[in-house]
Amino acid sequence: MKLGLFGGSFDPVHLGHLLVAQAAREELALDRLFFIPAARSPFKPECEPAPDAWRTAMLRLALAGQPHCEVDEQELRRGGESFTIETVRDYARRFPGAELFWLIGADNVATLNQWREAGELSRLAEFVAIPRPGEAEVTFPAPFRGRMLKGFPLGVSSSQIRARVKAGLPIEPLVPSAVAGFIRNNQLYL
Ligand code: ATP
Repeated sequence: MKLGLFGGSFDPVHLGHLLVAQAAREELALDRLFFIPAARSPFKPECEPAPDAWRTAMLRLALAGQPHCEVDEQELRRGGESFTIETVRDYARRFPGAELFWLIGADNVATLNQWREAGELSRLAEFVAIPRPGEAEVTFPAPFRGRMLKGFPLGVSSSQIRARVKAGLPIEPLVPSAVAGFIRNNQLYL
């Protein structure tokens, strides 16, 4: 069994994330792909994300009708800073023998050696770099194993979506229409 693990702030989830999911499922032949919203990213200490329940609700709307994509709230339940090793260990325990693929922004690959319990982490999961437009091929620092996805680089980010909402600019189709409706109805990111 091949499991994809896709961590992020998802504040909000957008088309770039959904294309990553599509590429990962196809290129890695994943059986299941878990979107894992972070309580708080160690890489974004200054950022206070939107409330957990909203980020999760938007993920569920975006993934409705996609049976291979699931939302895993374990990092939100744990709270505090979210460390990948804790989450990967949980999957290794729950799915013995499964191949675990952790999706990671290509710009973060060089920092992998500084992640908590890097040695153990590199043993438990293969890392898959997500391309951004124009990004060169990445090299994984030893002892990490990894590869890079081919499809489908898109220059969209959550911060861009939040800025567009604030500026009163349209956000469809950069986010699915159900997510755009949720943002409007709950007056998020104003
Ligand atoms: P922000 O703009 O707030 O920093 P983000 O759009 O990068 O957010 P995150 O939820 O932090 O979104 O991203 C989760 C993961 O998805 C990260 O590994 C990030 O590199 C990747 N990702 C985000 N947007 C894209 C995109 N357009 N194309 C490819 N990967 C992306």
